Amino acid sequence: MSRSQLETLIQVRRELHQIPEPGFQEWKTQQFLLDYLRTLPNRLQIKTWKTGILVKIPGTQPQKCIAYRADMDGLPITEQTTYPFRSRHEGYMHACGHDIHMTIALGLISHFAHQPLRDDLLFLFQPAEEGPGGAQPMLNSEPFKEWKPDMIFALHIAPEYPVGTIATKPGILFANTSECFIDLTGTSGHAARPHLANDMAIAASQLVMQLQTIVSRNVDPIDSAIITIGKMSVGTKQNIIAGQARLEGTIRTLSMETMHRVKARIEQLVQGIEQGFACQATIDWGANYCQVDNDEALTRAFMDWVEAETPYTLITCREAMTGEDFGYFLREIPGFMFWLGVDTPYGLHHPKIEPQEEAISVAVDVMSRYLTKLGQA
Ligand SMILES: [Zn+2]
Ligand SMILES: [Zn+2]
Repeated sequence: MSRSQLETLIQVRRELHQIPEPGFQEWKTQQFLLDYLRTLPNRLQIKTWKTGILVKIPGTQPQKCIAYRADMDGLPITEQTTYPFRSRHEGYMHACGHDIHMTIALGLISHFAHQPLRDDLLFLFQPAEEGPGGAQPMLNSEPFKEWKPDMIFALHIAPEYPVGTIATKPGILFANTSECFIDLTGTSGHAARPHLANDMAIAASQLVMQLQTIVSRNVDPIDSAIITIGKMSVGTKQNIIAGQARLEGTIRTLSMETMHRVKARIEQLVQGIEQGFACQATIDWGANYCQVDNDEALTRAFMDWVEAETPYTLITCREAMTGEDFGYFLREIPGFMFWLGVDTPYGLHHPKIEPQEEAISVAVDVMSRYLTKLGQA
């Protein structure tokens, strides 16, 4: 990519960076992308779905359709970067690199709009990755079904790797995740008359400790799982026995089976608390993301190709306990996701994260060459 092409994309990224929007409210982002796409040769076929966009570049003699997906949403974080092009949406920030993911997709579309492949290419701008989850509804949408691809790829920025690094692995790359909201209802009362009340502070405390036994006693030690209760709210005042408690947490596992086992154990322990403390309990599993399971053969072939045919550094990484709704696409369509090094000391979702913009040209270079290899072989 020439310096001026990169500078154009960096400018695009900076404009997207200033308009982060929450999931399924990415209307300004959608308009910005549509305006950009209209400047390209009109062989592009464009459909919108909610705040998302599907862009097809018809092949010359298509035998298959190859897709690339970029997520679109920002996060409810107040930006603390040193950028002159900080978020103009108070309290929202592109702190997970989705501005960069979209820019890379636009770079690829610009490239292939001028030189289509034999096969069809499909670019997906997917809303709501950070929640409530746009991948699954987009997968089930009519526009997607009409253009359903045969392979699908995506990347995510990785703060911990230098620019010029590609990291991935065959098989599980991201965990299964589920939210977990547990409400306990007992009876409040005067702090000095505990025998007339039913204290949910005690019940909730017991439950939090019991939940910690699931990973240590019910999950195979060679397997992995996480149960984190990140928020706990009980009661109303220091001298009133709490009649209500709410636990809010998240579960992460490296297989669907373990997710089912963990949830079954949580249900049993919550039933035990209900009986033991004579209270009522409800569980809400909230949003669930399925694992990102990279296709073994495609991922190995890509990794070998990166090592043999590109100047970039390939790292075989470990699986991460973070979630990514791209997993829903991979459940139906073979493909993979990889990490793209952007070299910043701050992690994803940090208010000071400043990814290196040169990584955009690495990604456009790698993916344009790789898609060309797949789409005209
Ligand atoms: Zn994120
Ligand atoms: Zn992300």
